[in-house]
Amino acid sequence: MFSWMNKTKEVHHECFDTVVEGLKSIYKYKMFPLEQHYLFHEFHSPPLNDADFDAKPLILLVGQYSTGKTTFIKYLLERDFPGMRIGPEPTTDRFIAVMYGEKEGVIPGNALVMDPKKQFKPLSTFGNAFLNRFQCSMVKSPVLKGISVIDTPGILAGEKQRIDRGYDFIGVLQWFAERVDRIILLFDAHKLDISDEFKRSIEALRGHDDKIKIVLNKADMINPQQLMRVYGALMWSLGKVFQTPEVVRVYIGSFWDQPLRFDSNKQLFEDETQDLFKDLQCLPRNSALRKLNDLIKRARLAKVHAYIISELKKEMPNIFGKENKKRDLIKNLPHLYRKIQQQYSVSQGDFPDVKKMQEHLSKYDFNKFHSIKPRMLEEIDSMLGSDIAQLMAMVPNEYCGDSDIDIRGGIFENVGDNLSPFGYRRGEGIMAGYGEVDWIVNKDRSSYDNIFDRLSNNNPKLSGSMAKEELLKSKLPNTVLGKIWRLADIDQDGFLDRDEFALAMYLVNVKLDGGDIPRDLPDHLVPPFKKNSSYPHD
Ligand code: MG
Ligand code: CA
Repeated sequence: MFSWMNKTKEVHHECFDTVVEGLKSIYKYKMFPLEQHYLFHEFHSPPLNDADFDAKPLILLVGQYSTGKTTFIKYLLERDFPGMRIGPEPTTDRFIAVMYGEKEGVIPGNALVMDPKKQFKPLSTFGNAFLNRFQCSMVKSPVLKGISVIDTPGILAGEKQRIDRGYDFIGVLQWFAERVDRIILLFDAHKLDISDEFKRSIEALRGHDDKIKIVLNKADMINPQQLMRVYGALMWSLGKVFQTPEVVRVYIGSFWDQPLRFDSNKQLFEDETQDLFKDLQCLPRNSALRKLNDLIKRARLAKVHAYIISELKKEMPNIFGKENKKRDLIKNLPHLYRKIQQQYSVSQGDFPDVKKMQEHLSKYDFNKFHSIKPRMLEEIDSMLGSDIAQLMAMVPNEYCGDSDIDIRGGIFENVGDNLSPFGYRRGEGIMAGYGEVDWIVNKDRSSYDNIFDRLSNNNPKLSGSMAKEELLKSKLPNTVLGKIWRLADIDQDGFLDRDEFALAMYLVNVKLDGGDIPRDLPDHLVPPFKKNSSYPHD
């Protein structure tokens, strides 16, 4: 049996949902009251809402024009999405959040930032020029139940474009970089020139090195010798931008479902694809841990902040000399920090930046600050001491093996309806022969039967190993061949009989002609002899 003949595994989200619900209630009942009481939101960070906790792991795709960003998403989802454009012309000119939705369609940027259920509200500060170039594509894809993906405009060479965009492109990129769980930088192996804007974009991602993975895409377009040189050149270029380029993982491959041009590295490309998918499948687990860590960090800061504010309140005189005292207190803030550090045994790293804090404080009337409320701080301590630990224990340790989301790039496809209005097809593709009386596969039947006879050695059926060589001649990725195998093996006995093999060959040709292979076999392609029998085809 080949790896592409495996069956899909059950998908489990419950653990993560429980963790997220736990975080929400801890925040709401234990942290939020303290934050509000001591003006934390004005000093440090706005209150968190449900959307911040519910947000699925986000993947940000960044790359120059035509490096295959949109195609990569299509490959992940195994289908098109509303509003997608694939280059070279026309090409993506906007930020597209590709997210799960029962109802498919496009939500424009202006509406998107008003939606309290989504986490994009702060993006409105980038102005209308940006919002007109921002949208959400809602897609009913099982892959998107576990993750969301951000497609970005292709980055061009030259200064002109930077001005033309009319909004702070790098700023938007940074906003996303801070919030996403994974950043995938795409490079085109057969056009490895790095423009100034792309270089600036990569530099803007600095500080998020741990989130970055690199994809050297279209690696099948050049021969293995050229590929080695390109890989070397890429590492050298990255070395100039990243502090430690050797720890950033580079995945080499051809991330779409088309035949390979040079297939001598086929095995490598497929291994790399599986490695990358595995990494993406771990994101929900990592994202749950990241949310936990972020909340711990925030709780520690909120606690220190409460000490600072209440100490300042305590020092203030009741009637005279208020302004002078306030000036002194602000000036001596480092002293106050040391005092709190000793008195409450808080670690130095938990304190907010002194200068920023001094700036903020000058704007406030210290008399309006609240004094210490031990009960509120005890809540935070109990949260850090036990609640968080309990939630932490619920995040499975080794979840990646039984992946929580199913990203296979073609093995377990999810085109719910092969007549989707968003589908793009060259020619009739899979729908050829629809409504005809004759089984369209019979048109080239004799050539398929000849091959069957050559391979079968008079056996009534072909095993996987007997058919494999022939199917591999198509140079289609194993992911696609696996899908075709599953559709063609109508009775699911692991073998292809004469009809089934003809169907498999026919589907290979549909794919090679540029058609898409759907999840379910359309009725008109089911072999006529099998239609009325009780074969399972789901
Ligand atoms: Mg694109
Ligand atoms: Ca069969």
